[in-house]
Amino acid sequence: MKFTFVTLFSNLVEGYFQDSILKRAIEKDLIQIDYINPRDYSENKHFKVDDTAVGGGAGMVMNPQPLFDSLDELKKQDSYAHIIFVTPVAKQFKQRDAKRLAKKSHVVFVSGRYEGIDERVIEEFADEVFSIGDYILTGGELASLVLCDAISRNIYGVLGNSDSLSIESFENALLEAPSFSKPKEYKNIAVPKEYLKGNHSKIRTLKIALSECKTKFFRPEQLLKHKTTEH
Ligand code: SAM
Repeated sequence: MKFTFVTLFSNLVEGYFQDSILKRAIEKDLIQIDYINPRDYSENKHFKVDDTAVGGGAGMVMNPQPLFDSLDELKKQDSYAHIIFVTPVAKQFKQRDAKRLAKKSHVVFVSGRYEGIDERVIEEFADEVFSIGDYILTGGELASLVLCDAISRNIYGVLGNSDSLSIESFENALLEAPSFSKPKEYKNIAVPKEYLKGNHSKIRTLKIALSECKTKFFRPEQLLKHKTTEH
């Protein structure tokens, strides 16, 4: 699967793929990463990509021309490219979106900077728009990386053990049960005894109970939904 980052600051994105799981995914050719800098398409003699807002308002806005030309070119090369704009005003990205988008052949993330992108670009090219939460970031690069990471985990072969996907939080109504690593006792704090006894059915029952406790504490509305669908 291919990911293209349309960004003025590709160096902010590149580092994320230089280690760990996504680095290995690139080495195994499970994902390919490409970058487009709208500045390379600017017709301004100083390669400017932003201007003051028409109608007034604080700050600069990204001009339509460099983005129109770069995305037109991209669409010419791959008409199946699925173009996502990240913006704080959109609906929040969820695990179910990550799973759905993992089936695409090419996903493009367009990152805004300054006060954002000229709305005409979004209207013309967006297949989807997503926010990563109700707060304002300096630019879209972090948000694009969040989406790319979450999607990549759902591509077959990217995770060493694909079983870990199915038990993760947000795969089911309940959050994942607490996890413990060795040693079994650390600073006089022991892991739950049941985890040590090797009785898998009892461990499963305990984990469901702990998942319910965790969900009740962190996401009470989700537990309610789980209980309603269960009955
Ligand atoms: N003026 C805009 C507003 O109030 O809605 C915020 C612009 S923000 C400083 C610049 C860029 O960062 C946005 O165009 C978007 O690409 C990205 N961005 C900021 N916060 C984001 C969020 N919560 N989710 C997704 N993208 C975000």
